[in-house]
Amino acid sequence: MRKPIIVGNWKMNKTPREAEEFMVAMEAYLTGEEKADYGVGAPFVDLDACVRNAKHLIVAAENCNEKDSGAFTGEVSVPMLKEVGITYCIIGHSERRTYYNETDEHCAAKAKRLFADGIVPILCIGETEAQYDAGETADVIKSQLKGSLAGLDADEVARMVIAYEPIWAIGTGKSADQTIAENCCKLVRDTVKELYDEATAESVRIQYGGSVKPENIKSYMACPDIDGALIGGASLKVDSFKAIIDATK
Ligand code: PEP
Repeated sequence: MRKPIIVGNWKMNKTPREAEEFMVAMEAYLTGEEKADYGVGAPFVDLDACVRNAKHLIVAAENCNEKDSGAFTGEVSVPMLKEVGITYCIIGHSERRTYYNETDEHCAAKAKRLFADGIVPILCIGETEAQYDAGETADVIKSQLKGSLAGLDADEVARMVIAYEPIWAIGTGKSADQTIAENCCKLVRDTVKELYDEATAESVRIQYGGSVKPENIKSYMACPDIDGALIGGASLKVDSFKAIIDATK
């Protein structure tokens, strides 16, 4: 039985003080008895404040570098994240793929490095609007998975989280309908089965992401192959994140 996982992605929002206020408010609301895992993906400078105030919430980084140290100005390594107490890390978000040239090869290297330090990757994949219109969604999903999982063992993939996020639905208010989201998440699971085996496919947790909000999250969580959500805009305000928790607990 897969435990649902719902993670906010703050992107480049919230100062450390704002992060701390959010964590304190959310932790006062959570009991630890919830049926799902809940968490936030936060900017690097907020991570320490988040971890210090986390009791039940997962704290995820939004990126990492696959190298341990060296002359990579502006980058943050996995050992640095580990020392801060990070347990999950988003990789391959479409904004990083688009603006910072992150590739499937980078994702594979980052995932391998994260697992070496016991940090769970949340791998993002998904097609552009042009690819969706051209009927290329399935090919894109399969190819991104093949490239981003390269070199990972079955037991690593079984523990990871894969977020299917159609780029046309991210931050646009235009969410994929329940059928599209379920079919694509099922395709992710079927592809993991093809690349690995049934047990791995049954174990990996698959999220839908793209304009998820309190009003629509229930419809996604009702789908057999959707184990949670990666949520941008609706994760920024305490009230809206609480409403998401209320809708899913
Ligand atoms: C995201 O940033 O991964 C995302 C899905 O954003 P939003 O929920 O705002 O569409």
